[in-house]
Amino acid sequence: MSRSTFDSSDNRKVQTAIFGSAGSDEPALLPQGRDSALRFRRRHGHHTFWCGELLGGCGAQLSARIPGDRVAHFMHHPDVNGRRRPCSRIHIDEHSADHLYVRHALVHWLSGLGFVSDTRYGDPAATGADIFVPALRVVLAVRLSGHNPAEWELQNARLRQGGWHTDWILGPQCGFASAVREHGGTVWRSRCSGTGIERATEIGTADSTGAVRWTPFAELSVTSDGLLREGITMSNTGHRKVPGVATTAPPRYRDPVLDALEEAFRIDGIAAMRRHYMAIVWRMWRGNADEAMQLRAKLTR
Ligand SMILES: [Zn+2]
Repeated sequence: MSRSTFDSSDNRKVQTAIFGSAGSDEPALLPQGRDSALRFRRRHGHHTFWCGELLGGCGAQLSARIPGDRVAHFMHHPDVNGRRRPCSRIHIDEHSADHLYVRHALVHWLSGLGFVSDTRYGDPAATGADIFVPALRVVLAVRLSGHNPAEWELQNARLRQGGWHTDWILGPQCGFASAVREHGGTVWRSRCSGTGIERATEIGTADSTGAVRWTPFAELSVTSDGLLREGITMSNTGHRKVPGVATTAPPRYRDPVLDALEEAFRIDGIAAMRRHYMAIVWRMWRGNADEAMQLRAKLTR
């Protein structure tokens, strides 16, 4: 992650933004490559982008800039006087929204298992997220930065209040692993990859040497003892945990159009979803199935 300060020409290469509003938690990563960036803009041209609060941003609106001679990046809108707004956002590179991608992947996975979750963004909001699963009294605490053990202990004590089991999912740069291990916890790591429109997320368990066993979400489950991967892991109390209460759902067919409609709903609300849905229905109703199929394909591109 890179440090950056206000620059009057706004020539920072801000690569991430938030969809919809400054307070939203839907991340956007603008690919640097021109073709990928143009594809991104075609797909999201009707969305707005923001220097979001959960990225540690200034809250200003951003535009996707795709110059022919430089990498694509987000640019701050000028103020009413045509001047660039001051922005002291620290993290601006392609990893700067990874806590939101990890959070999104975990919430989506939990939802597929039938668990409702509630995310709270504490301190630091720009690199962390706490996902509460009330049915299990489990918290999945995502932290992509932080190195001070005392800081971790404070956060751990706060999250454990009320009898919540906490599993820590740390980014590659986060130095809390020793503290987690000293308290008998399993160290989970996360990583995000992909420079296209989507960003793949993986999590895995790290051993004491730091080596990580990355595990597909399909091989993970969650119980009141927290996250489990296939096989046996150690609980925070040192007891062997056997994933007998398997909660991993069988693979389900996902209609890509349904996914696209859900995304439209998440980002722009019910009106956008209804607009897409009605456009498809209208074409079907007119008997033009080819046109409807073309629209379906376009929607999911
Ligand atoms: Zn900003």
